Amino acid sequence: MRSSRIPGFYKKSVEERKALLSQTLDLSAEDIKALDSDGVLPVETADKMIENVVGTFQLPLGLGLNFLINGKEYIIPMAIEEPSVVASASHIAKIVRDAGGFTTEASERIMIGQIQVVGCADYAVAKQALLEAKQDLIDAANAAYPSIVARGGGSQDLDVRILNDSPNSDYGKMLVLHLYIDTCDAMGANIVNTMVESLAPTVEKLTSGKVYLRILSNLADRCVARAKCVIPPKLLVTGEYSGEEVRDGVVHAFEFADSDPYRAVTHNKGIMNGIDPVVIATGNDWRAVEAGAHAYAARYGSYRSMTKWYVDAEGNLVGELELPMSIGTVGGAIRVHPVSQLAHKILHVESASELAQVIVSVGLAQNLGALKALVTDGIQKGHMALHSRSVAIAAGATGEMIDIIAEQLVKEKEIRVGKAKELVEQYTK
Ligand code: NDP
Repeated sequence: MRSSRIPGFYKKSVEERKALLSQTLDLSAEDIKALDSDGVLPVETADKMIENVVGTFQLPLGLGLNFLINGKEYIIPMAIEEPSVVASASHIAKIVRDAGGFTTEASERIMIGQIQVVGCADYAVAKQALLEAKQDLIDAANAAYPSIVARGGGSQDLDVRILNDSPNSDYGKMLVLHLYIDTCDAMGANIVNTMVESLAPTVEKLTSGKVYLRILSNLADRCVARAKCVIPPKLLVTGEYSGEEVRDGVVHAFEFADSDPYRAVTHNKGIMNGIDPVVIATGNDWRAVEAGAHAYAARYGSYRSMTKWYVDAEGNLVGELELPMSIGTVGGAIRVHPVSQLAHKILHVESASELAQVIVSVGLAQNLGALKALVTDGIQKGHMALHSRSVAIAAGATGEMIDIIAEQLVKEKEIRVGKAKELVEQYTK
């Protein structure tokens, strides 16, 4: 039976973990081949994906475990080089699971295409002309990409804004048309760009202006996903810290981030520590998600926390995360990269909307993982212990020496490459 709860997974060897994964998800030897070192992205495929290819760059792929989201079990592939992220996400997912799991929802999946028009003789008249031609423009955009309409999506609406309207503005006046497009299960950049480019000549005619930019906006605020968790304090007890102390510390940490951009940026980086690895593993465009997430965090005029943490009437810690999620389950590199194809099989999501909800749940878990560590022992204790293996490798340790040197570094509380080099020298003498 499929369960994301696999106790002791971290103690197994890589081969044992792969066998457990196949068994749990009933994957074939062919499916799992993408995890072999010679099964990852072939250089011939890479050469077709970007330009001037000389090879491929690999990241570790780990599994976030214990995730229960809307009552469904998820094993979550995460591609990331930073130690402790996967462990922390799985640790918090276990706590949230014991509290009933994450609940999530998503908005409709509407992406925005922008058309910039300058040089209009009268901007108000130009705006009115576009609004009067609204249905014709929507129909023309759909005619430029009929297959997405056949899939149940397509352009649905538009609006028009005039920017720099004030005489005191530093920049020239311009008109911006927003075309709203349902891209179904695709992230939709190509769909959106094709549609807005196709409208440019008509827009120029209607406005008597000049069109410059015709491109997707990554501030996908009509394509958002939300995750929530409600955790009783008894599940937050950490070492000598009571659950109430941890709960209150997390709320104070949130209030700090929500009031101060210097803190918010690091707080939000910790959220993206969970989000990016899933976006990458599933073959999605993490720059698009990153850009949208940070812009959304600044939507009220200052850069703030992406999450909210508060205490409810029963004394539970409540966490919420809402972000634009311009990801897909089709298109781009998703069906091209063999590991991304496997990641989708592991995740077992039915739609882009479901994937978006999984991703924000991981972001929320990751945030709590970081805040819980920060308000108790501090981030370094757990992080440096896991980082010690990378330090050992950087100092030249190989094979069984890696764990021996790493353990010694932790024991001597000196997790530095210099110290690791000394130990490697002693070991190899
Ligand atoms: P693609 O154009 O690769 O794929 C979308 C196509 O997949 C659709 O047009 C559709 O074609 C097909 N499809 C199959 N099943 C479905 C389904 N269920 N729902 C929707 N479409 C389906 O990808 P995108 O348009 O999503 O573009 C994403 C790529 O664009 C990413 O790689 C991104 O990096 C890149 N990009 C990003 C930009 C940005 O963020 N600013 C700018 C430019 C590019 P059909 O119906 O014909 O089968």
